[in-house]
Amino acid sequence: MTVIADPSQTTVHTFGAPRLLAGVAELGRVDLGHHVALHGEPVLRRRSWLSGATRDVNLLGRGGAGFPVADKLDAMPSGRVNVLVNGSESEPASRKDRTLMSSAPHLVLDGALVAAHALGSSDITIAVHDQRSYESLMLASQERRDTAGVRIVRTPDGFVAGEIRSVINGLNGEGYMPGGRRILPHHHGVDARPSFASNVETFAHLALLSRLGVADYARTGSTSEPGTSLLTLIGDVGGPGVVEVPNGIPLASLLPGQADAPVLIGGYHGTWVRSLGGLALDRVALRAVGAPLGAGVIARPYAGTCVLTEVVRVSNWLASESAGQCGPCFFGLPALADDVAALAAGAGADRLQSLARRVSLVRGRGACAHPDGSVQFISSAISALGDEFEAHARYGSCGRPPSDVLPLPGGVA
Ligand code: SF4
Repeated sequence: MTVIADPSQTTVHTFGAPRLLAGVAELGRVDLGHHVALHGEPVLRRRSWLSGATRDVNLLGRGGAGFPVADKLDAMPSGRVNVLVNGSESEPASRKDRTLMSSAPHLVLDGALVAAHALGSSDITIAVHDQRSYESLMLASQERRDTAGVRIVRTPDGFVAGEIRSVINGLNGEGYMPGGRRILPHHHGVDARPSFASNVETFAHLALLSRLGVADYARTGSTSEPGTSLLTLIGDVGGPGVVEVPNGIPLASLLPGQADAPVLIGGYHGTWVRSLGGLALDRVALRAVGAPLGAGVIARPYAGTCVLTEVVRVSNWLASESAGQCGPCFFGLPALADDVAALAAGAGADRLQSLARRVSLVRGRGACAHPDGSVQFISSAISALGDEFEAHARYGSCGRPPSDVLPLPGGVA
């Protein structure tokens, strides 16, 4: 394992030979000369090749939903289309995308060019929240001659503002708000044209796959999901920071000790589990057990701390992030956060029943995934942290010091 610290203070780890993060340990930021020395020039492929190769390696989108990239490519119509690279990393606990953009920006640009070439597009937009990633990508774009069609845009902060439909709406001048789940980027995307839209890490994988070919790309990872993934590890873990790991490894290998401690998988739209058991880094398998990898965040509070403190803090923050367009979300999430706070303060079974009623009223009722994701965070906490809630119900508190490992923007308490 290599451990390095990049200039943005995010510690970066790789297990085995790094791919996405190749050169980052030595260089911090991989400039064009070093990038070409490590990866060569981008290899531009035909659409049929890229579609087949992404299907062969079961490349799944890295923004949270884990949608098959081959299906997205196949859904794109012919004619004038756009490519949208979403680097709006709005999950407060995640650092993987900004680490990639600030440390290996040319791999992201290569992937965007690979997708654009395959789709016959000359319009690439890269949407970025944070200044450091923006500057790194701008510098990378200026370092090379093949980025004439690339536009790099700063997008506003905000959990929901980073959702792909919000980004599309914002770029189209309609405000960074979700436009409804039925709006599909491959029908109505940037500039109202069909857009191939995915997360920055997905594009970096497209660059690697196109360069390596299927056989070499699949030399690491599992048979069901070849390749590597970027994760952000938080709290009581083997090494906090951003990590590149082969797909398929046991999650417990990343979090030694504390076998039965609660772990949050996926981020703030993610799932609390009581134990990692035999769980492995496999997006399909994790989804099947109800704990999708989501934004690639894995967090474990320290032993002997009160994890309910974290659940209350994040629930309040999730409620404050509603974009206010849909009643069940705008009114339901604050009420759910109040229920969680009351239960953590010792409320009993009545409050638990009211929470369960509210969950059924909120779930599936928003124009975006925010209410469903928030409900997943809250209801999985109720299930996985039963012992902790019971202790609070009995004594009003567990008596432990508050856990404080989950970050929130602007130090929200
Ligand atoms: S579900 Fe919530 S966050 Fe999403 S658009 Fe509606 S109000 Fe906004």
